[in-house]
Amino acid sequence: MEKFKMWINGTWVEADSGRTFLTHNPANGEVIAEVPLAGKSDVDKAVAAARKAFPAWSRKTQEERSSVVARIAAALKDHKDELIKLEILEHGATARHAPIMIAFATANMELAASAARVHMGKVLPATPSKGAPAGTSNTLCYLKYEPFGVCALITPWNVPTLLLATKIGPCIATGNTCVVKPPSINSGIGLKLAEIISKLDLPSGIINFVTGPGSSIGRDLSTHPGVDFISFTGSSEVGKDIIANSSQTVKTLMMELGGKNPAIILEDADVDAAAEELCMITFENVGQNCAQPSRFYVHEKVHNRFVERFVATANKIKVGDPSDESTVMGPVVSKEQRDTIERYIKSAIDEGAKLVCGGKRPTGSLFDKGFYLAPTVFTDLKPNMTIAREEVFGPCVGFFKFSSDEKALEAANDSVFGLCASVWTKDYARGLKFVNELQAGSVWINQHMNLVAETPWGGFKESGLMKEGGVLGPEGYTQMKYVCIKHV
Ligand code: NAD
Repeated sequence: MEKFKMWINGTWVEADSGRTFLTHNPANGEVIAEVPLAGKSDVDKAVAAARKAFPAWSRKTQEERSSVVARIAAALKDHKDELIKLEILEHGATARHAPIMIAFATANMELAASAARVHMGKVLPATPSKGAPAGTSNTLCYLKYEPFGVCALITPWNVPTLLLATKIGPCIATGNTCVVKPPSINSGIGLKLAEIISKLDLPSGIINFVTGPGSSIGRDLSTHPGVDFISFTGSSEVGKDIIANSSQTVKTLMMELGGKNPAIILEDADVDAAAEELCMITFENVGQNCAQPSRFYVHEKVHNRFVERFVATANKIKVGDPSDESTVMGPVVSKEQRDTIERYIKSAIDEGAKLVCGGKRPTGSLFDKGFYLAPTVFTDLKPNMTIAREEVFGPCVGFFKFSSDEKALEAANDSVFGLCASVWTKDYARGLKFVNELQAGSVWINQHMNLVAETPWGGFKESGLMKEGGVLGPEGYTQMKYVCIKHV
């Protein structure tokens, strides 16, 4: 078991209360880390440290700040093995998936360093003002970007290191300082990242880490008068709570929330290839991806063949020990999360969906202590079923049949969520009609969840506010100031 402290104001500290909590390995229930259980006074100290650090940090040159972020990226590379190990142990990421996520986290950090260097304002067309000779201009007007101040960065557990890096990079590259709250159940990963950053001898207080439950310290951060900006990734339900809680101090919000993402398979698609590819994407990270395709709309002419191929692929997925290189699906992240998914499976059965794959825990001694579930697929979904409307966030998805493009589009858009979507067809003109009409922040044709470091990410409707990361990373963490100077 590793014991961690919190990183506040450039110092390792216990919680003021002295209390701690444990994190566990979802594959076998073993304790992985002991971490401080922060309370309001710890949050106050972290916010005060970030506030104190802000003036000097925000006045540094862009070159200086970007070089700090580039050093963090290099440190992520140097310590990748420790991070991969903890992603496997504390999160249940597979040995195949974890290195990809750490490489992605590093790429995002690298991009933040360079994108911030070319994040520039604009000069406005000159306008005459009082005193200027007729037909001439005597003003210089421009738009400049400035940091917000202190940012609270609150992240979920599903890709722990990646989401922390995606926020910390552009946040500090643009001159903000921050208080980071990693997800409780993966707090060890958050504090490992703090440990890596602590070795870089950065100015005290620019990045602070506090650990504890969202319902207490997450709320303390969202109501804190010393916090100017919140970047939150998590469920829509908690996102709405943060929007309400932060309203009293009118904070700027970047919200990356839940999804219930449609994949639409037209009858001219390469059905077998689409079924296999979509199946592997669906169950990657045990389906605990915000971008996971979870509502499938399949044209009636190819529905049965698509389902057959998808289920055959799902049945071949190796569920097992995440540290085994051949494992495709490890455990669900926690007992509570598995309980939630099992409630959704029961609701789907009770409401009349047809279970065609999985639906239960795998059996055998390996699975006794971990929180495993088999890949689960339902057909015959109806739009009003719980499984069709709510985000499950696990290895459980469902299929609809459709007869016309209009009906597929209407059904796909019939959701409070609008994170992402995909369309599978060889007819690009037809595919583009879907692209234009789908209410989603990202839409792919003939692929799903293909993201690179440069991709800005963010949803429509209840899936979020603003785009995060990629080439828009620095923009999201800055506010615009209008300046106009008159020559006298
Ligand atoms: P969650 O909303 O339960 O928790 C996310 C974070 O918020 C955690 O750190 C948690 O401790 C904290 N929190 C909880 N209650 C809080 C409160 N009242 N005030 C402030 N903070 C609070 O989400 P989760 O279960 O950790 O993650 C799964 C969810 O995240 C899914 O809905 C998934 O779609 C979403 N997600 C979205 C994206 C995206 O980019 N849109 C990416 C990854 C995950």
